[in-house]
Amino acid sequence: MNRENQNVYYIDIHTHNINSDADLSVINLYPKELANVLPEKNYSIGIHPWVVNHLTNDSDTELLKNQLRKKNILAIGEIGLDKLKPEFKLQQYVFISQIKLANTTNKPIIIHCVKAFGEVSEILKNENVKNSIIFHRFSGNKTIAEQFVKKGYYLSFGHELFHTKSKVQSVFKTVPNENFFLETDDSQYSIKDIYQKASELRNCTVETISDSVRSNFNKCFRI
Ligand SMILES: [Zn+2]
Repeated sequence: MNRENQNVYYIDIHTHNINSDADLSVINLYPKELANVLPEKNYSIGIHPWVVNHLTNDSDTELLKNQLRKKNILAIGEIGLDKLKPEFKLQQYVFISQIKLANTTNKPIIIHCVKAFGEVSEILKNENVKNSIIFHRFSGNKTIAEQFVKKGYYLSFGHELFHTKSKVQSVFKTVPNENFFLETDDSQYSIKDIYQKASELRNCTVETISDSVRSNFNKCFRI
């Protein structure tokens, strides 16, 4: 175990846990939680496709627009499309309006995508998105992973790395060092355990994982 290793810097690119034990974590907030933003923490904010049916007007988008100006709002997200949830047309409308908003900034976009990779790709293309793109908790197959890597997108992986029966393990092994992130999302896992698992799957040290993620972070967030 490398838990005490000074050379490892843990970045949790997407979490709902405000007390994440990462050295740097991007905490995801929904618009209704924006009042909770603390100056010393880093966030992503966005309207999740699961909550679009609770929206009554565009006021949440207005709220987002104002909050996005803050320096510690590092990214817009998680936003996206989910075929397993209702109101797909409305999801598309809300996603596109947030993409347009993201286009007015140079902040990365954290995408939630379930069984809608074609639709998401088309929207990113139609809207001519130049921002860095992170597909969080990536669930696509190797072919989609390869296409996204070619486009320079980042793919983020979480506790599914522990699931021996899912395709996530084998997909993760094929993603180049330059294109991945790690995350805890809403799980109870420590980001440290996810780094450890990632190093085992890629047959490298936790330091190597840490170096890759750190350099990807700097590139993606233009630091
Ligand atoms: Zn999430």
